[in-house]
Amino acid sequence: MFLKRLAHTLKSAIFPPKCLSCEKFFDMPFEQTATDPMYCGFEQLMSPFLCADCREEFSPITSVYDFNGGIACAVGEYRGALRTAIHAFKYQGKTGLAKPFGMLLFSTFIRYWNPEEIDLVLPVPLHIKRLRGRGFNQAFLMLKQWKHIAELLNVQPFQIEPDILMKTKNTRPQVELTRKERKENIKDAFSLSNSSAVKGKKILLIDDVYTTGATVKECAKVLLNAGAARTDMLTLARTSK
Ligand SMILES: [Zn+2]
Repeated sequence: MFLKRLAHTLKSAIFPPKCLSCEKFFDMPFEQTATDPMYCGFEQLMSPFLCADCREEFSPITSVYDFNGGIACAVGEYRGALRTAIHAFKYQGKTGLAKPFGMLLFSTFIRYWNPEEIDLVLPVPLHIKRLRGRGFNQAFLMLKQWKHIAELLNVQPFQIEPDILMKTKNTRPQVELTRKERKENIKDAFSLSNSSAVKGKKILLIDDVYTTGATVKECAKVLLNAGAARTDMLTLARTSK
Protein backbone atom coordinates (compact mmCIF):
# COMPACT_ATOMS: atom_id res chain seq x y z
CA MET A 1 0.00 0.00 0.00
CA PHE A 2 2.82 2.40 0.93
CA LEU A 3 4.64 1.66 -2.34
CA LYS A 4 1.46 2.17 -4.33
CA ARG A 5 0.89 5.51 -2.61
CA LEU A 6 4.51 6.53 -3.17
CA ALA A 7 4.30 5.64 -6.86
CA HIS A 8 1.12 7.68 -7.15
CA THR A 9 2.71 10.69 -5.40
CA LEU A 10 5.79 10.57 -7.64
CA LYS A 11 3.71 10.22 -10.78
CA SER A 12 1.49 13.17 -9.80
CA ALA A 13 4.55 15.28 -9.03
CA ILE A 14 6.22 14.53 -12.36
CA PHE A 15 3.06 14.57 -14.47
CA PRO A 16 0.56 16.71 -12.57
CA PRO A 17 -2.86 16.41 -14.17
CA LYS A 18 -4.13 19.49 -15.93
CA CYS A 19 -7.83 20.30 -15.55
CA LEU A 20 -9.66 19.85 -18.86
CA SER A 21 -11.90 22.78 -18.09
CA CYS A 22 -9.86 25.60 -16.47
CA GLU A 23 -6.47 24.20 -17.61
CA LYS A 24 -4.89 24.61 -14.17
CA PHE A 25 -2.56 21.92 -12.82
CA PHE A 26 -4.00 20.19 -9.78
CA ASP A 27 -3.23 17.45 -7.29
CA MET A 28 -5.02 14.29 -8.21
CA PRO A 29 -6.69 12.71 -5.20
CA PHE A 30 -5.34 9.27 -4.43
CA GLU A 31 -8.73 7.67 -3.87
CA GLN A 32 -9.83 7.58 -7.49
CA THR A 33 -9.59 3.93 -8.31
CA ALA A 34 -12.98 2.63 -7.13
CA THR A 35 -14.61 0.56 -9.80
CA ASP A 36 -18.00 -0.20 -8.27
CA PRO A 37 -20.37 1.65 -10.61
CA MET A 38 -23.14 1.61 -7.98
CA TYR A 39 -21.19 4.10 -5.87
CA CYS A 40 -19.34 6.14 -8.45
CA GLY A 41 -20.50 9.69 -8.87
CA PHE A 42 -19.29 12.58 -10.99
CA GLU A 43 -16.99 13.90 -8.23
CA GLN A 44 -15.10 10.63 -7.94
CA LEU A 45 -15.06 9.49 -11.56
CA MET A 46 -14.00 12.85 -12.99
CA SER A 47 -11.25 13.51 -10.43
CA PRO A 48 -8.38 12.54 -12.81
CA PHE A 49 -9.70 15.00 -15.43
CA LEU A 50 -11.14 18.01 -13.61
CA CYS A 51 -9.97 20.04 -10.61
CA ALA A 52 -12.12 20.19 -7.47
CA ASP A 53 -13.50 23.65 -8.31
CA CYS A 54 -14.60 22.60 -11.80
CA ARG A 55 -16.13 19.34 -10.52
CA GLU A 56 -18.30 21.45 -8.24
CA GLU A 57 -19.94 23.07 -11.28
CA PHE A 58 -21.68 19.79 -12.09
CA SER A 59 -25.50 19.91 -11.94
CA PRO A 60 -27.05 16.44 -11.77
CA ILE A 61 -30.45 15.88 -13.38
CA THR A 62 -32.91 14.03 -11.21
CA SER A 63 -36.09 14.40 -13.28
CA VAL A 64 -37.34 11.97 -15.90
CA TYR A 65 -38.99 13.14 -19.12
CA ASP A 66 -41.65 11.53 -21.22
CA PHE A 67 -40.18 10.24 -24.46
CA ASN A 68 -42.44 8.83 -27.19
CA GLY A 69 -44.29 6.75 -24.61
CA GLY A 70 -41.02 5.71 -22.94
CA ILE A 71 -38.79 7.70 -20.61
CA ALA A 72 -35.74 9.90 -21.12
CA CYS A 73 -33.07 10.58 -18.49
CA ALA A 74 -29.71 12.32 -18.41
CA VAL A 75 -26.77 12.32 -16.02
CA GLY A 76 -26.26 16.07 -15.79
CA GLU A 77 -26.90 19.47 -17.31
CA TYR A 78 -24.99 20.30 -20.47
CA ARG A 79 -22.97 23.21 -19.10
CA GLY A 80 -19.78 24.06 -17.23
CA ALA A 81 -17.13 21.39 -16.83
CA LEU A 82 -19.34 18.55 -18.12
CA ARG A 83 -19.87 20.43 -21.39
CA THR A 84 -16.13 21.13 -21.71
CA ALA A 85 -15.30 17.49 -20.98
CA ILE A 86 -17.78 16.24 -23.61
CA HIS A 87 -16.18 18.59 -26.17
CA ALA A 88 -12.71 17.31 -25.27
CA PHE A 89 -13.98 13.73 -25.68
CA LYS A 90 -15.65 14.25 -29.05
CA TYR A 91 -13.49 16.84 -30.76
CA GLN A 92 -10.05 16.65 -29.13
CA GLY A 93 -9.66 12.90 -29.03
CA LYS A 94 -9.70 12.60 -25.20
CA THR A 95 -11.07 9.07 -25.48
CA GLY A 96 -9.92 8.21 -21.94
CA LEU A 97 -13.13 9.96 -20.88
CA ALA A 98 -15.20 7.10 -22.33
CA LYS A 99 -14.59 5.14 -19.14
CA PRO A 100 -15.89 7.63 -16.53
CA PHE A 101 -18.65 8.73 -18.93
CA GLY A 102 -19.74 5.11 -19.49
CA MET A 103 -19.81 4.52 -15.74
CA LEU A 104 -21.82 7.69 -15.12
CA LEU A 105 -24.33 6.56 -17.74
CA PHE A 106 -24.54 3.16 -16.12
CA SER A 107 -25.12 4.49 -12.61
CA THR A 108 -27.99 6.62 -13.96
CA PHE A 109 -29.31 3.63 -15.90
CA ILE A 110 -29.63 1.40 -12.83
CA ARG A 111 -31.33 4.19 -10.91
CA TYR A 112 -34.25 4.28 -13.36
CA TRP A 113 -34.39 0.88 -15.03
CA ASN A 114 -34.36 -2.74 -14.08
CA PRO A 115 -31.69 -4.08 -16.50
CA GLU A 116 -33.90 -7.08 -17.26
CA GLU A 117 -36.54 -4.72 -18.70
CA ILE A 118 -34.25 -3.72 -21.57
CA ASP A 119 -33.75 -6.12 -24.49
CA LEU A 120 -31.46 -4.03 -26.66
CA VAL A 121 -29.15 -1.08 -26.10
CA LEU A 122 -28.48 0.99 -29.20
CA PRO A 123 -26.00 3.86 -29.52
CA VAL A 124 -27.32 6.70 -31.68
CA PRO A 125 -25.32 6.19 -34.91
CA LEU A 126 -23.18 8.60 -36.89
CA HIS A 127 -23.15 8.75 -40.68
CA ILE A 128 -20.23 6.74 -42.08
CA LYS A 129 -18.49 9.94 -43.29
CA ARG A 130 -18.66 11.52 -39.82
CA LEU A 131 -17.57 8.24 -38.23
CA ARG A 132 -14.51 8.09 -40.47
CA GLY A 133 -13.65 11.71 -39.72
CA ARG A 134 -13.90 11.32 -35.94
CA GLY A 135 -12.63 7.76 -35.78
CA PHE A 136 -15.22 6.61 -33.24
CA ASN A 137 -18.88 6.82 -32.31
CA GLN A 138 -18.88 8.56 -28.92
CA ALA A 139 -22.09 6.83 -27.75
CA PHE A 140 -20.75 3.37 -28.61
CA LEU A 141 -17.38 4.09 -27.01
CA MET A 142 -19.12 4.95 -23.72
CA LEU A 143 -21.27 1.82 -24.00
CA LYS A 144 -18.23 -0.42 -24.35
CA GLN A 145 -17.73 0.18 -20.61
CA TRP A 146 -21.02 -1.55 -19.88
CA LYS A 147 -19.57 -4.89 -20.90
CA HIS A 148 -16.79 -4.40 -18.37
CA ILE A 149 -19.29 -3.31 -15.68
CA ALA A 150 -21.47 -6.39 -16.31
CA GLU A 151 -18.38 -8.54 -15.74
CA LEU A 152 -17.55 -6.70 -12.50
CA LEU A 153 -21.11 -7.10 -11.24
CA ASN A 154 -21.31 -10.63 -12.54
CA VAL A 155 -24.60 -9.96 -14.32
CA GLN A 156 -25.86 -11.00 -17.75
CA PRO A 157 -24.05 -8.87 -20.37
CA PHE A 158 -26.19 -6.27 -22.10
CA GLN A 159 -27.09 -6.76 -25.71
CA ILE A 160 -25.44 -3.71 -27.23
CA GLU A 161 -25.89 -3.46 -30.99
CA PRO A 162 -24.03 -0.68 -32.82
CA ASP A 163 -25.01 -1.77 -36.32
CA ILE A 164 -28.79 -2.25 -36.31
CA LEU A 165 -29.67 1.43 -36.40
CA MET A 166 -27.86 3.29 -39.17
CA LYS A 167 -27.61 6.92 -40.16
CA THR A 168 -28.04 6.85 -43.90
CA LYS A 169 -28.40 10.58 -44.59
CA ASN A 170 -25.35 12.77 -44.04
CA THR A 171 -26.98 15.73 -42.31
CA ARG A 172 -25.57 19.15 -41.40
CA PRO A 173 -24.33 19.38 -37.78
CA GLN A 174 -27.43 20.01 -35.62
CA VAL A 175 -25.51 22.47 -33.45
CA GLU A 176 -25.60 25.09 -36.27
CA LEU A 177 -29.38 24.96 -36.60
CA THR A 178 -32.56 26.30 -35.00
CA ARG A 179 -35.08 23.92 -33.42
CA LYS A 180 -37.26 23.93 -36.57
CA GLU A 181 -34.28 23.43 -38.89
CA ARG A 182 -32.98 20.56 -36.75
CA LYS A 183 -36.23 18.65 -37.16
CA GLU A 184 -36.19 19.13 -40.93
CA ASN A 185 -32.44 18.36 -41.20
CA ILE A 186 -32.69 15.02 -39.38
CA LYS A 187 -35.96 13.86 -41.00
CA ASP A 188 -35.65 10.37 -42.54
CA ALA A 189 -31.92 10.28 -41.71
CA PHE A 190 -32.05 6.84 -40.04
CA SER A 191 -32.86 3.33 -41.16
CA LEU A 192 -32.47 -0.23 -39.89
CA SER A 193 -30.07 -2.85 -41.18
CA ASN A 194 -32.34 -5.56 -39.75
CA SER A 195 -35.86 -4.53 -38.84
CA SER A 196 -36.86 -7.97 -37.53
CA ALA A 197 -34.17 -7.61 -34.81
CA VAL A 198 -36.14 -4.82 -33.11
CA LYS A 199 -39.66 -6.24 -33.42
CA GLY A 200 -41.34 -6.55 -30.00
CA LYS A 201 -38.13 -5.37 -28.25
CA LYS A 202 -37.76 -2.87 -25.43
CA ILE A 203 -34.96 -0.60 -26.56
CA LEU A 204 -32.71 1.86 -24.78
CA LEU A 205 -31.13 4.52 -27.00
CA ILE A 206 -27.86 6.09 -25.83
CA ASP A 207 -26.36 9.41 -26.89
CA ASP A 208 -23.99 11.99 -25.47
CA VAL A 209 -26.17 15.12 -25.49
CA TYR A 210 -29.92 15.73 -25.64
CA THR A 211 -30.68 19.20 -26.99
CA THR A 212 -34.05 19.50 -28.72
CA GLY A 213 -34.46 15.72 -28.93
CA ALA A 214 -34.94 15.89 -32.72
CA THR A 215 -32.26 13.24 -33.39
CA VAL A 216 -33.40 10.65 -30.86
CA LYS A 217 -37.08 11.17 -31.65
CA GLU A 218 -36.29 10.41 -35.28
CA CYS A 219 -34.41 7.25 -34.17
CA ALA A 220 -37.38 6.21 -32.00
CA LYS A 221 -39.78 6.76 -34.91
CA VAL A 222 -37.84 4.31 -37.09
CA LEU A 223 -37.70 1.71 -34.30
CA LEU A 224 -41.39 2.01 -33.36
CA ASN A 225 -42.43 1.84 -37.03
CA ALA A 226 -40.52 -1.44 -37.28
CA GLY A 227 -42.50 -2.84 -34.33
CA ALA A 228 -40.29 -2.08 -31.29
CA ALA A 229 -42.37 -2.46 -28.12
CA ARG A 230 -40.92 0.61 -26.43
CA THR A 231 -38.06 3.09 -26.77
CA ASP A 232 -36.36 4.80 -23.81
CA MET A 233 -33.54 7.30 -23.93
CA LEU A 234 -30.48 7.94 -21.78
CA THR A 235 -27.90 10.65 -22.43
CA LEU A 236 -24.85 11.92 -20.61
CA ALA A 237 -26.03 15.53 -20.70
CA ARG A 238 -29.13 17.53 -21.42
CA THR A 239 -29.47 21.23 -22.19
CA SER A 240 -31.47 23.09 -19.57
CA LYS A 241 -34.77 24.49 -20.74
ZN1 LIG B 1 -10.60 23.24 -13.26
